[in-house]
Amino acid sequence: MGLEEKLPAGVLLTSVEKVVNWSRKSSLWPATFGLACCAIEMMAAGGGRYDLARFGMEVFRPSPRQADLMIVAGRVSQKMAPVLRQIYDQMPEPKWVIAMGVCASSGGMFNNYAIVQGVDHIVPVDMYLPGCPPRPEMLIDAILKLHDKIMDEPLGVNARRRDLPGYEPRKQVASSQRFTKEGKQAHRVALQKELMR
Ligand code: SF4
Repeated sequence: MGLEEKLPAGVLLTSVEKVVNWSRKSSLWPATFGLACCAIEMMAAGGGRYDLARFGMEVFRPSPRQADLMIVAGRVSQKMAPVLRQIYDQMPEPKWVIAMGVCASSGGMFNNYAIVQGVDHIVPVDMYLPGCPPRPEMLIDAILKLHDKIMDEPLGVNARRRDLPGYEPRKQVASSQRFTKEGKQAHRVALQKELMR
């Protein structure tokens, strides 16, 4: 027998954490920008056929100050990296990042000096979405999984703040070293450190 059974109808018991997280996940506003071909699929997800509006997040914002979700749709060139980081810094906390597609997640087939080998070298990524390109359904699935993640985020002193000095993005491993034994080992160690955080 729970306390709920003693309550009159119309009274709901919950925690502040759940209410805050629920309101945050129900009103994610993505920043409007696309970097390459994946952006076409992202635009399709917002169109009438796939209808992101069902999840209260069709309002793509042209100003990063009004956005709390960054969808990195496409490969990130070295030249674009500081711009992307600046947009991320201009977004208010709390904010989340989805790496959409294999290029944004790991550099994909562009294993060369011009392309950043994974956007997690620049900003912290919450959700990696595989595929080339991922279909709009996959993007919507990633967003729904991000909703679940947001629902479990602690608040207050236990909150995981990514703008604190302790946070370090993954170290760049030069593409020429990524397929050597030492390069792979360095890459693995960096990933493990990230997971242990
Ligand atoms: S993952 Fe494929 S579709 Fe997306 S940016 Fe890279 S090449 Fe283009």
